[in-house]
Amino acid sequence: MNLQLAAKALKKAFGYDDFRPLQAEIIQAVFQQHDVLVLMPTGGGKSICYQIPAITLDGIAVVVSPLIALMKDQVEGLNANGIPAAFLNSAQSIAQSREVEEALINGYLKLLYVSPEKLVSQGFQPLLKRLKISLFAIDEAHCISSWGHDFRPEYTQLRFLKQQFPQVPLMALTATADRLTRKDILDQLGIEQAEQFVASFDRPNISLEVRPGQRRIEQIIAYIKERPGQSGIIYCLARKTCETIAEKLNAAGFQASYYHAELSPARRNQVQEDFINDRIPIVCATIAFGMGIDKSNVRFVIHYNLPRNVEGYYQELGRAGRDGLPAEALLFFSYADVQTYRDMIEQSESSDEQKALRVAKLNRMFQVAEAPVCRRRTILNYFNEPFDRNCGNCDVCRRPPRHFDGTMAVQKALSALLRTGERAGMQLLVDVLRGSRRRDILENGFHEIKTYGAGKEYSFEEWTFLLSQMLHQGYLEIAYDSHSHLRVTEIGKAVLFEGKKVQLALPAEQEPNSSRGRSPRNIPDANPPGHDAQLFDQLVAMRRQLAQNLGVPPYIIFSDATLKGMAEKLPLSEIELLRISGVGERKLQEYGAAFLQLIQRYVSESGIQTPIPAPPVKDVASEKAPAYQTSVQLFLEGFSIHEIAEQRGLAPDTIQGHLLKAYQAGAEFPILELVRAETLDLIIGALPLFPKPRKLKPIYEHFEGRFTYDEIRWALAIAERNGAG
Ligand code: ADP
Ligand code: ZN
Repeated sequence: MNLQLAAKALKKAFGYDDFRPLQAEIIQAVFQQHDVLVLMPTGGGKSICYQIPAITLDGIAVVVSPLIALMKDQVEGLNANGIPAAFLNSAQSIAQSREVEEALINGYLKLLYVSPEKLVSQGFQPLLKRLKISLFAIDEAHCISSWGHDFRPEYTQLRFLKQQFPQVPLMALTATADRLTRKDILDQLGIEQAEQFVASFDRPNISLEVRPGQRRIEQIIAYIKERPGQSGIIYCLARKTCETIAEKLNAAGFQASYYHAELSPARRNQVQEDFINDRIPIVCATIAFGMGIDKSNVRFVIHYNLPRNVEGYYQELGRAGRDGLPAEALLFFSYADVQTYRDMIEQSESSDEQKALRVAKLNRMFQVAEAPVCRRRTILNYFNEPFDRNCGNCDVCRRPPRHFDGTMAVQKALSALLRTGERAGMQLLVDVLRGSRRRDILENGFHEIKTYGAGKEYSFEEWTFLLSQMLHQGYLEIAYDSHSHLRVTEIGKAVLFEGKKVQLALPAEQEPNSSRGRSPRNIPDANPPGHDAQLFDQLVAMRRQLAQNLGVPPYIIFSDATLKGMAEKLPLSEIELLRISGVGERKLQEYGAAFLQLIQRYVSESGIQTPIPAPPVKDVASEKAPAYQTSVQLFLEGFSIHEIAEQRGLAPDTIQGHLLKAYQAGAEFPILELVRAETLDLIIGALPLFPKPRKLKPIYEHFEGRFTYDEIRWALAIAERNGAG
């Protein structure tokens, strides 16, 4: 078997043009009958490593997988690509498993997914011996190790595989990198000689950001508002927090569910299904959520609370952007969380040694969140992956800190702290420095101390940032034994009384155009230049409809990345459609016609110039009318935006866009049905503050998220027309 055939199979079955890093090497090793250990981060593309050998080699590949839900998704995905695959596990009826066993005996299948308990069960052994097995793949192989974080006793019995099937290549796959676990996997499976493939753990398409944890809910609401329709997960520590956030998001007009261990299994299943099927875009969850789901278009992961360790943080944020399109991870950092964890660790039953380990891991997490160093660099180095450049796709890289002589700032802070009798935490100290009149300041008489209000030159956020550096550089410490107040250290006193010099850093001013969405090289752009957002919306709507009719999750049909490819390249024939990444032969047969028709109609309706003339499409109302005309017509007939969206199978945002475009082109509208007069007045009144050409974001930020982007767009359009701008 050679790699050329493997590459052909990749295109034919999955519609992909190239292997990702290491996939080809791994497949080659299997072709040479080697045992292999595959270490790749979540979303790295592990499945292809055994699926391609499975479909190209003679016989059947047996895949051991611990997660029943995932097994089912994988098999559905394979079947949708025309690959005969099935699964066996304890959740099936006898009739179902009998059917699979029959298919096995008749040699109809190329892949069998099986749970470890089923595989090792006595009843299954005779059947296993009758099969012609091409490969064993052990997914989530770290479950074999008691060092790992997910130990499963059934996994330890898997050593019989190599003993009884010494000729069959064995592949162990995991996303957990640490060396101890890695060695344990090889030892326990009896494949000490296995070839090891360690992929980079970098996920360059996920941008990283850390923000101070003040007014988190408000920040989250503004964040989601800027990302309409996107799918995301918000991780919280406490069940109650999940519920509260979901509630507030719903009150703010978003669709959000919550998920935690105290819900019934049926309810949890429901939330998971709704999320996977794009019925609910946002889930607020404790860390249990996301383990067994394979949703590729999660666009953001927010950590409401600080994760307990870097491993957990990275694993959770890794659930974003599996489709390789740009995705975002946002972490809120608060000292209160650090304190909560310390208390939890202290009060736990663990040995002193374990406690110390957990505190050390917590401190590393704390450091990732705090150090003004490229986040990706800190994280990858933590995982022992040398990474010696700045990533360009994290908040520190985007706003590199500027260093300055911070001696005076340290002196002000420490002096104020001493004058409170070291009875202030971070927030209170900042408020004293900035001269706030909050009640406890007045009650404690802190407004009378000499340094009260001496630090007005820095904002609240800047002071927080500076104080945390003072903590890390050791001028301050947190007195965990005394209400977590801050305390001046010995070297702090040296700055205060002996004028020892200190370097501090503050984030640079944000460049006007670099706020977000600027992706570094090598990452497919979320909205490629030619990518047509309206067409994409229509493709998504059609996918949803098809998925509903067929009773499968939307991503089984095509991923977002594939639909974006279509909206960019505008394929008009089967051959062109096949060139889109993610369109294999089976999917072309099944869904090609439907998607082609939509694209053809779209292209001819909106008069887009394409290299090849689009074939005529019958049911076009008026050849020359722009695509937005229909929406305008319906709106003038009295339908609401939502009703029009429903009728046309488009997103409400798209309809808004249509109306706006029409208005800009001179149409007349009852605009006050769309935006309140006061809103328009307020926004238009503020416009002179913003230089032309006006950007939306500064205006949005000026009003602190009080008005939506759509409202701002309308105000701008009206100002423009009236010459008031
Ligand atoms: P993992 O199991 O490592 O978390 P998956 O196997 O689920 O990752 O792959 C993640 C995503 O990347 C899937 O949507 C998969 O189809 C896609 N993918 C894998 N290999 C390729 C490839 N060579 N080209 C394009 N997409 C790929
Ligand atoms: Zn960076």
